[in-house]
Amino acid sequence: MARPHLDIDLDKIEHNARAIVALCRQHGIEVVGVTKGVCGQPEVARAMLRGGVAAIGDSRLEHVQRMRAAGVEASYHLLRVAGLSDVDDVVAAVDVSLESELCVLEALSAAAARAGCVHAVVVMVELGDLREGVMPGDLVPFVRAARALPAIQLAGIGTNLSCLAGVVPTVENMTRLVALGREVERGAGLRLRWISGINSSGLELLAAGRMPPAVNQARIGEGILLGRESTHRRPWPGTHQDAFVLHAEVLELKRKPSVPIGELAEDAFGQRRTFADRGEILQALLDVGREDVGPDGLVPLDPGLVVLGASSNYLAVDVTHARRPLRVGDRVAFSPRYGALVAAMTSEYVDKRTHGGVVTADAAGAGAPPTATTRTTTSR
Ligand SMILES: *Cc1c(COP(=O)(O)O)cnc(C)c1O
Repeated sequence: MARPHLDIDLDKIEHNARAIVALCRQHGIEVVGVTKGVCGQPEVARAMLRGGVAAIGDSRLEHVQRMRAAGVEASYHLLRVAGLSDVDDVVAAVDVSLESELCVLEALSAAAARAGCVHAVVVMVELGDLREGVMPGDLVPFVRAARALPAIQLAGIGTNLSCLAGVVPTVENMTRLVALGREVERGAGLRLRWISGINSSGLELLAAGRMPPAVNQARIGEGILLGRESTHRRPWPGTHQDAFVLHAEVLELKRKPSVPIGELAEDAFGQRRTFADRGEILQALLDVGREDVGPDGLVPLDPGLVVLGASSNYLAVDVTHARRPLRVGDRVAFSPRYGALVAAMTSEYVDKRTHGGVVTADAAGAGAPPTATTRTTTSR
């Protein structure tokens, strides 16, 4: 069956994790490797762990359950605040979760008590990106109330930036986070294990040596998966940007005008589009569409190609200036940006092919099989 596929190079992911972990370690920061961008793909989680991440973080319980079921042993952090209806599953699946509602903490405490365990939480603070988090002025009373819960361990405070609004991490907001941590420790009389400051958007601040030293945890997804910091999507030094490559097949290849013929109304997705007249072009129609991955975020590896648009099931590409002439049946390779990666990983119509992740005989010790094995699996 003709299907697009996503090649996943586990060795590059491991390498990227190692590079980010080494940088963070220099600054006294431990790294939670974030797998939500790959739907908790177990081999990717293993590659991150080989690269030295301290724990695995994901936003969905299903992903954590998937990794656990595949035998990936790690400390798991849930990066999305728990739903009131999820507390028993949260307590069973993860060691730590990020939280911001007292009623949820009460329910988590009751669930942990029922399960005979203590559940650790990082209380999220709102520092401007307007996603999850307790307002700073409410933090100390919040933590005081949470401390009274018998089966909750307050492990830290954290904040998430550069997500909903794109607010960048700065010396100012990170210093604010640290000060809030001190206030909580004094005001509620406890020691916090983590000041969880940044995601991939904080790498530049960190590398510039401007991160307040008390920040001691980073939750990194994109930096490891795609080798980019996430404020300007700049390639991160010493990492690979091509651990993921999407391949789609050419189904039709024809010379066509670059401007549609006829009266224009909304397209299939309710948009009105405009077209620049570039004369006749050579247009390729590929077997990947919006149902799998949007047209924005797909960067052709051949710099001569231009993505024109996508319908549910096709991607149209101007291949007039392709470096390598294309024929029907050829495959075209794309580098997915983060949103496109998430979409491709989520689509059940895109095959995922992992490569690498080699276990060497040396690492396995004497008596192990003499040859390294390369596993190639297709899943989801
Ligand atoms: C997704 C997420 C991250 C990871 O973000 P990246 O930019 O991919 O590094 C970190 N923390 C939280 C709370 C998240 O939701």
